[in-house]
Amino acid sequence: MTQKPPRILIVGAGMFGSAMAYHLAIGDADVVLLEAGPAPGCGVTGRAFGWINVINRPPQHPGYALLKAGFDAYRDPLVVPPQMLEGARSGSLIWHATAGETEDFGLSHQRAGEAVELLDRQALAKLEPCLRNPPELAVLSRNDLALDPARLARAFTDAAVRAGATVVFGQDVVGVEQVDGRPVLRSEKGEAMVADVVVLAAGSGTGKLMQALGMDIGVRTAPALLLRYACSTPVTSRILRMPRLELRQAADHTLVVAASFVDDGSDDLPRRLGEARLAVMRDELDLPEGVTLLSAEVGQRPTFDDDLPRLGFASQTRGIYLAVGHPGVILAPLFGKLAADEILQGKPTGLAAIPTA
Ligand SMILES: Cc1cc2nc3c(=O)[nH]c(=O)nc-3n(C[C@H](O)[C@H](O)[C@H](O)COP(=O)(O)OP(=O)(O)OC[C@H]3O[C@@H](n4cnc5c(N)ncnc54)[C@H](O)[C@@H]3O)c2cc1C
Repeated sequence: MTQKPPRILIVGAGMFGSAMAYHLAIGDADVVLLEAGPAPGCGVTGRAFGWINVINRPPQHPGYALLKAGFDAYRDPLVVPPQMLEGARSGSLIWHATAGETEDFGLSHQRAGEAVELLDRQALAKLEPCLRNPPELAVLSRNDLALDPARLARAFTDAAVRAGATVVFGQDVVGVEQVDGRPVLRSEKGEAMVADVVVLAAGSGTGKLMQALGMDIGVRTAPALLLRYACSTPVTSRILRMPRLELRQAADHTLVVAASFVDDGSDDLPRRLGEARLAVMRDELDLPEGVTLLSAEVGQRPTFDDDLPRLGFASQTRGIYLAVGHPGVILAPLFGKLAADEILQGKPTGLAAIPTA
């Protein structure tokens, strides 16, 4: 007699939920992905910069090995099918305020085993003729990727559907309960959806859903700004991260900039910061005429005080699985695979248990 596949309900079609849906669906689970918004990647994933790297974290960070595993997983076709990466670009260049700082930064990552090179001003100017003031020294990280996170979330969701998953958009989940030892989701209309496992991948909304169970997982949000500028010609194919600017150019030439954001309560702050960043871009890069700000959006990154993500069954519950944290675009494909192996085959992820208070 064949066993019935486990029914798995996933809340949230962001980067985490989409990758989970794909890996669980190809593992033959009966998957339903529920998303409040109209499309995959409409939460913070749609406001992410899309830099797949290890270099942004110091090697001594407690999450460094996990990040490296997430980064390497992008080159494993069993984790990310290569066709999902069409349009992604490779390589990033990073420098700090002084050549000494850049050298220390590059060497610390080389010692950690990363394939990074130090370039002098001449080599850099040749590689990136768009730079108006090439620094004395820069670090080249050739294997980094730059991609559109919402597009990747869509690719995972579409592949999950092809593997048999059901995706429901416009479905706001308002509650999580446990009934007779099984997890149950409650829709806005009061419908109860029973599952063998519920995966909460609702980004910054995950904390609220856990509170419905009387549990605090300690997730908070950290805002950051994503700016998009119309541009008519190619400027650079790499990610450029310098003291005043973090930028990449998409295949349609759109310039994408990530920036920190401290809210002062004024509605027009994102756009004002976007215009100020354009002046910095003009200082640093040879830009064509007519570059204009298209959008300035604040995204709320789900984070924890220990700066580590959460993946696994929530302690003190049965069948409630969490996938939340930062940096989600880098980690989501790996987390999708680890979660599917744990939920469907009982293979431990090797990650710490999730504390719930
Ligand atoms: C400016 C900026 C730059 C960034 N750059 C990078 C980067 O370069 N690399 C990187 O790895 N990360 C980056 N990040 C972080 C990255 O965006 C997040 O870590 C990642 O997108 C989190 O994905 P998620 O699936 O947890 O959240 P989300 O994308 O927010 O997905 C959660 C989904 O759940 C849905 N949802 C929530 N509550 C409910 C509910 N009750 N019922 C139904 N649906 C619900 C939401 O609508 C949403 O679609 C950046 C973030 C910002 C803002």
